[in-house]
Amino acid sequence: MSEALKRAAQAVVVNWAHPGELAAAVRTLALVLQDDTPPKPAPDLLDTPVCPYCGSDSVTQDATAAYNPDSGKWELVDICDTVWCNTCGRDTSRGTIPRREYEAAHR
Ligand SMILES: [Zn+2]
Repeated sequence: MSEALKRAAQAVVVNWAHPGELAAAVRTLALVLQDDTPPKPAPDLLDTPVCPYCGSDSVTQDATAAYNPDSGKWELVDICDTVWCNTCGRDTSRGTIPRREYEAAHR
């Protein structure tokens, strides 16, 4: 917990019985919490699956979805073997490869 977060949380406790100051303390705490939230790590783009023929990441894979009456949503139940590249139009069912592998092979 950062010092700024500790001070903002303490201000909320101290001003608990003073509605005017409490509102300001809660707003400050909310702003500090936003700043204290660690950023999500960026996905490693070199792990992106790409077409082994052209290197495009515009690939799609057939799948099966079933309706779940409990959630009220269609949910993925199976991923099929058929993979298609939308850029070069090839069947890439033998598998996509990570972008790092494609770039290493095409230097
Ligand atoms: Zn392709």
